[in-house]
Amino acid sequence: MLLKMPQKLLKTAHYIELGSYQHWPVLIPQRIRLYTYEQIPVFLRENPYITDGYRAHLPSKLCLKSIFILSNETVNIWSHLLGFLLFFSLGVNDLSTVLPASGAHRDDYVIYAIGLFCFQVCMLCSVGYHLFSCHRSEKTCRRWLALDYAGISVGILGCYVPGIFYAFYCNAFWRQVYLVTVLSLILAVFCAQVHPRYLSNDWRRLRMALFCSVAGCSVVPACHWVWLNGGFTSDVVQLFLPRVMVMYLIAGSAFMFYITKVPERYFPGQLNYLGASHQVWHVLVVLMFYWWHQTAVHIMHFRLSRPCPAQTGSGQH
Ligand SMILES: [Zn+2]
Repeated sequence: MLLKMPQKLLKTAHYIELGSYQHWPVLIPQRIRLYTYEQIPVFLRENPYITDGYRAHLPSKLCLKSIFILSNETVNIWSHLLGFLLFFSLGVNDLSTVLPASGAHRDDYVIYAIGLFCFQVCMLCSVGYHLFSCHRSEKTCRRWLALDYAGISVGILGCYVPGIFYAFYCNAFWRQVYLVTVLSLILAVFCAQVHPRYLSNDWRRLRMALFCSVAGCSVVPACHWVWLNGGFTSDVVQLFLPRVMVMYLIAGSAFMFYITKVPERYFPGQLNYLGASHQVWHVLVVLMFYWWHQTAVHIMHFRLSRPCPAQTGSGQH
């Protein structure tokens, strides 16, 4: 028995490169092995600067098991799994403590529930994709990729809904106009996914352009909000515009990491397991959602403490 143990360990030991040190031993379950970029199927080849640590050719059960091994997807999986737990606990905390203590109305509960639910869906779709992208069937991988993209749209929706609701709190007309517009835009992106070539590598840039324009459209209601509130000198704009700018800054840098594949393009093969652009993108997305959630809490407190000045008439045109 004692003699058998080391032999079993030897069988499953795999040496990986982490940072500049090349011989980290990692124990992985039998039947899961890691491949280099050249060894994986073509449909999985997306980032040539990540040279090793790929899982591939696995059945569903082993994809699930691979959550506990160190591969080049481990940080991607766990960052959004922890992100899901964060937004789940924020949801429980908001609905049970924060909102009742602030004297929130029924609408506030609905908006918070929608926003946080969208963030959780986005996190779970991403976890699912990174967990099952090593599936042996190309069709299954593509389906999970489609779900990951659908999750990003849902995440963007989760930012828009509370943003528009509180920005146009005192103007029911524009609130409805923007909410309906955003819902139709996101629905259109969902429909575009049905196109058979949508997930192909040639359409990668188009997909990114689509997400960028859906997120970029938020500049219109943002400027309109500044104008409706009396410009840059008004209290509410001075209080919340810096928070909106920080949101754009986080979203912009997250997107830059995503498309440029920095920093791994400058250190090919050295950031396979830790520090790659997709991992930075994941962390920034969690940070961005968290920041937007905190902003919603602040603006809700502001709105609940000050009655709307425009309710007597100007909001009803
Ligand atoms: Zn991802």
